[in-house]
Amino acid sequence: MLEQEHPHLARPVPQGRVRVDMHTHTMWSGDCTTTPEEIVEVLSGAAIDVVCITDHNTISGALALRDRLPCRVVVGQEVKTSHGEMIGLFLTERLPHGIKPAEAVERIRDQGGVVYIPHPYDPMRSCLRAEVIEELAQSGGIDAIEVINAKTSLAHLQARAAETASRFCLAAGAGSDAHVPLAYGAACVEMDDFDDGDGGGFLAALRSGEPVGHHWDRARPWKARIVPSTADFQWSPGESAG
Ligand SMILES: [Zn+2]
Repeated sequence: MLEQEHPHLARPVPQGRVRVDMHTHTMWSGDCTTTPEEIVEVLSGAAIDVVCITDHNTISGALALRDRLPCRVVVGQEVKTSHGEMIGLFLTERLPHGIKPAEAVERIRDQGGVVYIPHPYDPMRSCLRAEVIEELAQSGGIDAIEVINAKTSLAHLQARAAETASRFCLAAGAGSDAHVPLAYGAACVEMDDFDDGDGGGFLAALRSGEPVGHHWDRARPWKARIVPSTADFQWSPGESAG
């Protein structure tokens, strides 16, 4: 199913390498209604080895779905700082909304996490301000920067992100920024496999990675549906992603 939407997923990944979508959302994000069942369905049989769940301002969905999806899950969060959005990967604790970027970096690093800058320079998004990216990069506060975001259509923005990555020796990341099920895998990184427990191991492997992907920003086809509440979400007994 996903291979038809995203032809790069049909290419086999060499042994010892994994395909990671570094930026995805679920119904726990305020702006997304993708249910766990839909994620399980769309990822079953898909050539995606790892998804980083990076919901807006919460890690609850990522924690709930860890070990429940047909692929590995990295617990992350897209946090709205006082100066724009930032992603922390490999988190154990939620980052508070509205904190200063430098504080977000500190809190992510304190958890052994990875500081990842999503959709840099994109004026259509709530991106981290350019001068803050510059400042943080200079002081070593950024680990990785998103050079392909599948929802960004403007090639020059991605080129500028790649330029920043090479100027500051940052790891280059990529993600679908999926807000609908079919978006998963629209952009991802093919990289050396890594130890799931460890942001450091992930980052080292990411440096060997190759970002791949395409522009994909379709809306969910409309149909009446009921989205379960995240407040009391639980898997039905016996139900498992397997
Ligand atoms: Zn996002």
